[in-house]
Amino acid sequence: MSWADFKREANFIGGAWVGADSGATIDVTNPATGEIIGTVPDSGTAETARAIAAAQATFETFSRTTADERAKLLRRLHAAIMDNQRALAELLTVEQGKPLAESMGEVGMSAAYVLWFSEEARRIYGDVIPSPWGGRRILVTKQPVGVVAAITPWNFPSSMLARKIGPALAAGCTSVVKPATQTPYSGLAWGVLCEQAGFPAGAVNILTGSATKIGGEMTANPTVRKITFTGSTPVGKVLMRQAADTVKKVSMELGGNAPFLIFDDADLDAAVEAAIASKYRNSGQTCVCANRFYAQAGIYDAFVEKLAAASAALKVGSGLEEGVVQGPLIDDKAVAKTESFIADALGKGGRVVTGGGRHALGGRFFQPTVIADATSDMAFAREEIFGPVAPVFRFDTEEEAVRLANATEFGLACYFFTRDLGRAFRVSEALSYGQVGVNAGVITTEVAPFGGVKESGVGREGSKYGIDEYVDMKYVCIGGL
Ligand code: ADP
Repeated sequence: MSWADFKREANFIGGAWVGADSGATIDVTNPATGEIIGTVPDSGTAETARAIAAAQATFETFSRTTADERAKLLRRLHAAIMDNQRALAELLTVEQGKPLAESMGEVGMSAAYVLWFSEEARRIYGDVIPSPWGGRRILVTKQPVGVVAAITPWNFPSSMLARKIGPALAAGCTSVVKPATQTPYSGLAWGVLCEQAGFPAGAVNILTGSATKIGGEMTANPTVRKITFTGSTPVGKVLMRQAADTVKKVSMELGGNAPFLIFDDADLDAAVEAAIASKYRNSGQTCVCANRFYAQAGIYDAFVEKLAAASAALKVGSGLEEGVVQGPLIDDKAVAKTESFIADALGKGGRVVTGGGRHALGGRFFQPTVIADATSDMAFAREEIFGPVAPVFRFDTEEEAVRLANATEFGLACYFFTRDLGRAFRVSEALSYGQVGVNAGVITTEVAPFGGVKESGVGREGSKYGIDEYVDMKYVCIGGL
């Protein structure tokens, strides 16, 4: 199949491809060219309610399938993804902008999550607890929570769904999914893949349209028992508040403000290589991208110089072009926001070492930018940049570095480079983050728990812990023995 075969311009509800009730559509654009590549349904409350009903109807039977049956279906889903990796990656690049190699990596990651959860499906174990009563036995079992509602962002439009529908299906849950409006096709493609894998109609339902109407129904409808969201902290807070009315189980993967500390004793070249990988992945548009670099005084100048040289060497352009490692930003708003961070920093004494603004290619292309002499009063000290800008702050002591790194309401991912073993333990324990990379800049894998503390979210995705978000524990006391 080619990428165009996966570009579905309809909702996937109860196994059927259908438009919005009103017939209204939303345009989808290629961020590299600004061209409209197609449309998707502009759905609202009624379509969402029907998708939830379809999911509930299928839940009645799907929740009673054996773990082995679900594991086999998930393995077929894995195969369907890998058989179409190139086509799915091209579709992703066309709607999202990231370089094809990154899209291939993301689709591979989606497949890896699905394979992981095909294995975990068979390991949803319970417990037998020693009973305090002679004539009774105490069992603990795990049961699927019910219908799951999932809302996903545009920066990883394929793999963020894998992390949610993978464990949902493994646990025996059915789901209703709303992909981001900017990148709906990689979300809708999961409908084609689920059909190919042989999942029953209604196991996964996907719809596009109004975020507030779809999100409103997902959170208000009592049939939905779990809401899982990846996106910004403000929207996550709204969804948590809305979900409170029907006391749904929630997991939230929200914003970050990742610090990246480089100590005097670090392997500087390794730190720069990791800094580039962490900062510029998806042109800086990931929630675990390094947002703030803190370099110790002894290596500050050397780090800035090496980082700037490596940043300047990154090839910017269309993600489909050979050798390009920096695609466009997602939309004009993102370009304006990135510019505003630079203007703010320059107004407060920051110094552009390389880059500094829009790229000569025009459109949404942006130059990889390094800003030296960054200070805590600059906006990017507090806010997520989500663009290819690397501010470098200076620090003197380990204690100061930890304090600055933790001075944020976020707590998703952080990184530091040191060759001192004692420091590696001390600092990793002192950092208030859900994920820590020590001498490593890219640490996401399906086998490890992804998630944050503080306002970066609740719950974990991937790993043996990820399945817990999709099951309820049931205590059964058997008496009269
Ligand atoms: P980003 O800044 O990455 O676009 P958002 O949190 O705005 O992050 O968007 C992430 C996802 O949440 C998208 O699918 C978007 O459509 C959806 N979304 C945005 N606002 C709401 C809302 N009020 N209710 C439900 N979903 C929303």
